[in-house]
Amino acid sequence: MANIGVLIETSDNNEVKKTNFGVITAARGEGGNEIFGLLINGSGLTCKDAVQEYGIGKLVEISADGANLSSNPELQAKALAEAMKHFEINALFGLSSMQGKDILARTAAILNAPLTLDCVGVNLAEDTVTKFHFAGKTFATIKLTGECRICGIRPNAIEAKAGPCEAEVMSFQADVQDSGRMKVKELKKGASERVELTEADIIITGGRPIGSEENFKILHDCAEALGEAAVGASRMAVDSGFAPHDMQVGQTGKTVSPKLYIACGVSGAIQHFAGMKTSKVIVAINKDPDAPIFAKCDYGLVGDMFEVVPALTQALKSDN
Ligand SMILES: Cc1cc2nc3c(=O)[nH]c(=O)nc-3n(C[C@H](O)[C@H](O)[C@H](O)COP(=O)(O)OP(=O)(O)OC[C@H]3O[C@@H](n4cnc5c(N)ncnc54)[C@H](O)[C@@H]3O)c2cc1C
Repeated sequence: MANIGVLIETSDNNEVKKTNFGVITAARGEGGNEIFGLLINGSGLTCKDAVQEYGIGKLVEISADGANLSSNPELQAKALAEAMKHFEINALFGLSSMQGKDILARTAAILNAPLTLDCVGVNLAEDTVTKFHFAGKTFATIKLTGECRICGIRPNAIEAKAGPCEAEVMSFQADVQDSGRMKVKELKKGASERVELTEADIIITGGRPIGSEENFKILHDCAEALGEAAVGASRMAVDSGFAPHDMQVGQTGKTVSPKLYIACGVSGAIQHFAGMKTSKVIVAINKDPDAPIFAKCDYGLVGDMFEVVPALTQALKSDN
């Protein structure tokens, strides 16, 4: 039996982000291993119910003696690496989120472990992971070797499957020294009050023709009518100053895998597609019938987004 760790990410109000559940499912594999949930500065008691439902048998609250781990990825990685050594964990899984990519990479460097990020599949029995390469042009199966392996999983790429057990909550105090090389001076909340992009089941995205920050209102209204939906932007919309970078989907933005992705006025460039191609259903609204996005979507609607989106919002509202 091996000890496998899952770095658990929580939201601002200390709730377990639901995208963790697919990661825990991947770490569980066919079963037979001890699954540790590793919480940095989180409350085990608050998170216990959610994670034990998916098979976390041991939930470890990691803190540090005399050092504040919050918002300091360097210290967090050191503490995480110590906890892994202490509990003899030789495989670590986490989300390929902004936070996950940062901490997992630092932890891999400390442990001299192989690191694969943005994986969309895991085969524990064969020690392989699968991921897209070259903006999605190729699909690679990668064999991981070494005493310890670290893997970041694309949010929502692996379907969460319950595997209930009773979790034991434990604490671990790491002995880490602050090198002083990194000081967080200020933390600013992202612009969006809505659901975080990588967590959302539904995303509606605006491309360059949205034309202004104000015009994003049609997408926000539609997202509200859709329920738990987030609003994204293409890079052209972000570079034009219509939306902040934390809304960007794509190779140089966020990677998302929602159940439904609605692209409005997005051409379907390969760099945009790289960030959303694993969406379960893709809908495109574009006024050019020859737009490349139509070759890559499940449903396409030829039309002006400034007419189609408000009409969709109206239809959704009258249905509710
Ligand atoms: C290294 C690199 C990294 C990149 N990373 C990213 C990334 O992370 N994310 C990303 O998005 N891009 C990225 N890009 C840019 C990418 O190549 C495209 O330029 C960009 O995605 C295009 O954005 P767009 O589709 O919004 O705009 P456009 O290419 O201008 O397309 C606009 C589309 O809207 C349609 N349209 C126009 N008016 C309307 C209307 N009223 N209603 C409906 N449809 C309309 C047009 O027919 C067209 O298809 C990257 C590029 C490079 C080189």
